[in-house]
Amino acid sequence: MDKKTLWDAVITELQLSLSNANFQTWFKGKTEVVSWQDSQIEIGCNSSYTRDWLEQRYHGQLKAILDRITESKNTLIFSVSKNVPAVVNAKPSKKFDPLASPLFEDSEAERLKVLERATAANLNPSYTFENFIVGPSNQLAFAVAQAIAENPSKAYNPFFVYGGVGLGKTHLMHSIGQHALKQRDKLRVLYCTSEAFTNEMIEAIQNRRTKEFRTKYRGADILIIDDIQFIAGRETTQEEFFHTFNDLYANGKQIILSSDRPPADISKLEERLRSRFEGGMIADIQQPDVDMREAILLSKIRRQNLDIPQEVIHYLAQTVSSSVRDLEGTLLRIVTQAEINQTSVSLELAKNFIVQKQGRGLGTKLSPKEVLDLICNYFNIRQSDIKGASRLAKLVLPRQVTMYLLRKDLGLQFESIAQLLGKKDHTTVMYGVEKIDKSVEKSEKLRGLVEDIRSKLYN
Ligand code: ADP
Ligand code: MG
Repeated sequence: MDKKTLWDAVITELQLSLSNANFQTWFKGKTEVVSWQDSQIEIGCNSSYTRDWLEQRYHGQLKAILDRITESKNTLIFSVSKNVPAVVNAKPSKKFDPLASPLFEDSEAERLKVLERATAANLNPSYTFENFIVGPSNQLAFAVAQAIAENPSKAYNPFFVYGGVGLGKTHLMHSIGQHALKQRDKLRVLYCTSEAFTNEMIEAIQNRRTKEFRTKYRGADILIIDDIQFIAGRETTQEEFFHTFNDLYANGKQIILSSDRPPADISKLEERLRSRFEGGMIADIQQPDVDMREAILLSKIRRQNLDIPQEVIHYLAQTVSSSVRDLEGTLLRIVTQAEINQTSVSLELAKNFIVQKQGRGLGTKLSPKEVLDLICNYFNIRQSDIKGASRLAKLVLPRQVTMYLLRKDLGLQFESIAQLLGKKDHTTVMYGVEKIDKSVEKSEKLRGLVEDIRSKLYN
């Protein structure tokens, strides 16, 4: 038996014992036997990610199969092999070319229909697989996401994706919903943040509409809840979500959750929920490496038709490593800066910008006071206006924008924001943040305003 025949035999056996998605993700076309000598078998994988994964999770199973087929006790070595294409290249199909717009494939009517359903599902049409860059830091999460989008509720249920702020969790989850909708005419997808879920539940209880609330969430074929960590410590929400989860799960519906940390690290999360979250597929997203950062910038630049010299892209990818959101934000602010100065983007401009940013301490967080001061200045109002209870529109907006920035950019808890702004009840803050979050998606004007404030905050 040669090494290829050996591996073919192993693969055939694995296919019988693994779920299809697992098999496709980890084995099919992703592995080979590199060498086989004196009971030492080297298994080549398409990436270091696959290698680590196989070594950690499949070592025992692989060894058992190999020992049986070769009738000897083998030592297994896992390595990265250049002969097996990496996942990113394994699918060179047009479908996943980040630069090819999916919109051209479909008729206008078809496109509008999908868009309508996406909007009804709360999905942001600009977050798709097509413009999601895949690399070692998110390969696993991406592979699982794709498998789910193609075949919901089959192999990975629930799917729990976790990772730091701005690393693409929300983008990935929207992509699943969008792709799944496109594939199936009748599929019902529902996306919401755990904050929105909580708000809606409270409202439903107050208005005696819990039945409608339940029908809505339990009627989804794919339920996507973003930032699930926020339900921790909230008794009623956890209770309600537990039943929603069970109901969906029992009916074979797909559940997708995201969090900034793994279930085990979410404190004040009920044990019964934790064990359910851990019962499916868990994948993390790490910070992108420098090559990936460059790819993300390039894709962004091409899609927006920006004119940015290669050396600037290179420099930014090298320098801004915190998150994809920071990377995109920095690019945007540099472009804005160039527009204000009426010059083009140059390496010098980019460097100056970064140095300025470092001047105020790159990585050191803004303080709540800085945000408050700036907002008061910006809208020409007093701190007492922000902290007060007046419902005048000219005060409500700045107040909500303050809540939004404190939550989104500084990552403060709702309770702390409530305290800071002299609100008795943190649900007021939840509403405020949610309101701006939604409006920013819809209104270009508001988005511009928030970005303008941000550019002043960060410069
Ligand atoms: P998270 O939910 O993890 O905080 P988001 O999904 O909101 O992060 O991502 C922040 C920004 O970065 C979004 O604009 C998103 O499109 C972009 N982004 C993140 N990861 C990627 C990626 N792999 N490819 C392209 N864009 C990305
Ligand atoms: Mg998110």
